[in-house]
Amino acid sequence: MKIIDLINKDTLSLSFEVFPPKTETNFQSVKAATEEIAKLRPAFMSVTYGAGGGTSKYTLDIAKNIKELHGVPTLAHLTCVSSSRGTVKEKIEEIAAAGITNVMALRGDIPASMENNDRSHWDYQYAVELVRELKASGYDFCIGGACYPEVHPESNTQKDDILHLKEKVDAGCDFLTTQMFFDNNLLYNFLYKIREAGITVPVIPGVMPITNAKQVERAVKLSGSFMPQRFKSLVDKFGNKTDAMKQAGIAYATDQIIDLFANGITNVHVYSMNNPDVAAKIQSNLSDILGGNL
Ligand code: FAD
Repeated sequence: MKIIDLINKDTLSLSFEVFPPKTETNFQSVKAATEEIAKLRPAFMSVTYGAGGGTSKYTLDIAKNIKELHGVPTLAHLTCVSSSRGTVKEKIEEIAAAGITNVMALRGDIPASMENNDRSHWDYQYAVELVRELKASGYDFCIGGACYPEVHPESNTQKDDILHLKEKVDAGCDFLTTQMFFDNNLLYNFLYKIREAGITVPVIPGVMPITNAKQVERAVKLSGSFMPQRFKSLVDKFGNKTDAMKQAGIAYATDQIIDLFANGITNVHVYSMNNPDVAAKIQSNLSDILGGNL
């Protein structure tokens, strides 16, 4: 099932993101965690892809398992920046052979070892090239792209970032998923600006429940996200109390999602990663809201 058809329904829904194991050793535990999340029957689940290619094999194994065993539509992430054209072509064939029809086309973060290289020799510089390649593959993929309500860290201005986003969408993205954010007004402003720029595809907001204080630092480093005072106070108060922080972080994410639904969003992507208990708690907090049609 294509994600574009799922999220265009007039029903409120959640989707969840998981990540594949790094090695064979923890394959079974990751598989079990993703199966627990699949049992919640989300609209779809996405499976990330290691930028260095290290976990790429497992992305498909996990995505295929969720789809075949649990009937949950899956979205396989694919990055291109540190790969050759040949490798990417092989990956595209593998995704198609696994019967996966939804692909998140990403550039990937530039590995530190490549940062100072002459980029003109790289096979890929930007995600738009991967989108074009997926379109040209002959497979009828539903293609997603990443977007950044708070501007991608490499862009000098939001105007530039949105211009490049438009190019990526015009190349063939069917929908966009956002980087995490902790202040919904940033998302609403972003949506206004991209619509004004002529980007009309559905945008799925990504919400990350922060359930421990260490995650805050990682999230800010990774995404550069703005932390509202309300959120900082919560971390100050509960950051050193494991259970309290988890409860407060889940409540904060739940509030964000309710506000998004109340303002016209129909699908929210939850970065609950491989934590079935976090995914289940968010879903149960929203049970009556998710149960009712619009
Ligand atoms: P792009 O769309 O190529 O954009 C990257 C930067 O280049 C932006 O600043 C953009 O404005 C600029 N740009 C684009 N085109 C041009 C152009 N023609 N000229 C000049 N500048 C240009 N990473 C992983 O490794 N694995 C994952 O599974 C993964 N999943 C993600 C899922 C989501 C929803 C998000 C938001 C991010 C994810 N990432 C993942 C991180 C992502 O790979 C990084 O943020 C990466 O730095 C950018 O990827 P992109 O696809 O957005 O790149």
